[in-house]
Amino acid sequence: MSRNWEVVIGLEIHTQLATKSKIFSGAATAYGAAPNTQACLVDLGYPGTLPVLNEEVVRMATKFGLAVNAEIARRSVFARKNYFYPDLPKGYQISQYELPIVGEGELFIEDADGKQKRIGITRAHLEEDAGKSIHEGLDRHSGIDLNRAGTPLLEIVSEPDLRSAQEAVAYMRKIHSIVRYLEISDGNMQEGSFRCDANVSVRPRGQEKLGTRAELKNLNSFRFVEKAINYEVERQIEILEDGGEVVQETRLYDSDKDETRSMRSKEEANDYRYFPDPDLLPVEIDEEYIAAVRATLPELPAAKQQRFIEQYSIKPEDADILTTSRALADYFETAAGATDGKAQVVANWVIGELTGALNKESLEIEQSPVSPEALAQLVSRISDDTISGKIAKEVFEAMWRGEGSADAIIEAKGLRQITDNSAIEAIVDQVIAANPGQAAEYRAGKDKLIGFFVGQVMKETQGKANPGAVNKLLKDKLSG
Ligand code: ADP
Ligand code: MG
Repeated sequence: MSRNWEVVIGLEIHTQLATKSKIFSGAATAYGAAPNTQACLVDLGYPGTLPVLNEEVVRMATKFGLAVNAEIARRSVFARKNYFYPDLPKGYQISQYELPIVGEGELFIEDADGKQKRIGITRAHLEEDAGKSIHEGLDRHSGIDLNRAGTPLLEIVSEPDLRSAQEAVAYMRKIHSIVRYLEISDGNMQEGSFRCDANVSVRPRGQEKLGTRAELKNLNSFRFVEKAINYEVERQIEILEDGGEVVQETRLYDSDKDETRSMRSKEEANDYRYFPDPDLLPVEIDEEYIAAVRATLPELPAAKQQRFIEQYSIKPEDADILTTSRALADYFETAAGATDGKAQVVANWVIGELTGALNKESLEIEQSPVSPEALAQLVSRISDDTISGKIAKEVFEAMWRGEGSADAIIEAKGLRQITDNSAIEAIVDQVIAANPGQAAEYRAGKDKLIGFFVGQVMKETQGKANPGAVNKLLKDKLSG
């Protein structure tokens, strides 16, 4: 990426709200049903039917607004966004335009230097999702599945404050954590419950005016967001450096080819002929309602991270990872609480071995075969010198396979560390005696050979000798 260009990104994140029924009808929102079995007359756009607002979406949007420190509109209005598409039988999408429910807010991400960076949230508005066209498996026909039509969405729009693909991903991850903490969305990206459009432009460094942007549609994984933005930035810089101009347009990211392709020129807002929907009353909420919703907010990721740093003295970057989801944070706290002040060691194990093992088998933390209490016992056996960190990995693997608790495995496999100095001393003597050449070289100044001796002793003891004791004894004996 060229030093001469500054990257500017703004995200529009679509979060599917986890309501049981749709935003304006009583049809179910469950994923994966047979086509058109969850679409009622309202979703089919039958003339004469009327939308009825699902109160739950107002509560969820308010929760989100409060979580990002945003202004909650006391009065918001649903508007019709008019366009034609086969999966939109009404000919318009009900959205919010001039008066969205959530106004300006903010959140903080860590930038490349590890500093907190404020990202402005422009607004978040409620809207209904459209249906889906199906082409696969149909001979010269297209099918329309309206199960998704009317599914509630919260569209969260950021200011163009993001300066790299990494920042965009960091911001999107934070929003993802927040909606899951709030339990207003399952955040399932494979099922399309959490996706984003990335608006990307570049400008010469130092220039105030924003460059012309392209909008990359429907990115449904963090990796795709990063790749699509990086590809797009390169594409735009190349055009500009060749003296060309970037066209404002909507582009699609093709993950197979890892490139973006033009889809259509970008509509302007006035193409949609927005107007307030006469079928729906404005939404009015009062202080009392907002206070009641505020009282239901859980501890949020940023606050939890801060608390973890202070309460457990763990590294800030570890606290950031451990607070990604409530389940992970709870796991860590339960395990750390069951050890005697060994929170950082617990953090290392959770982020390292445990997460690695979970990822390998595509398991969620809730499905971990090793409970937090069991992990705490393992960590305690390292800190009380029963086993070394290296042996602990072997014990962990056995625990993962369901062979029992750390204590049971240590006993059954005879993995207890040898802390009896006289036992270690005997082996140290034996190793030195068996390697007179190396011993002479060490004494002649080849310090590095200590590693060789430690290795030999460890081999003799199957890794069970206390490494600190081995080191000390070897040094004493070799220099003596
Ligand atoms: P629209 O509703 O037409 O998509 P908006 O003006 O509401 O457009 O902006 C949508 C998103 O695009 C916002 O996240 C905003 O920050 C971002 N954005 C606007 N202009 C630019 C630009 N020049 N470069 C990058 N992002 C931009
Ligand atoms: Mg847009």
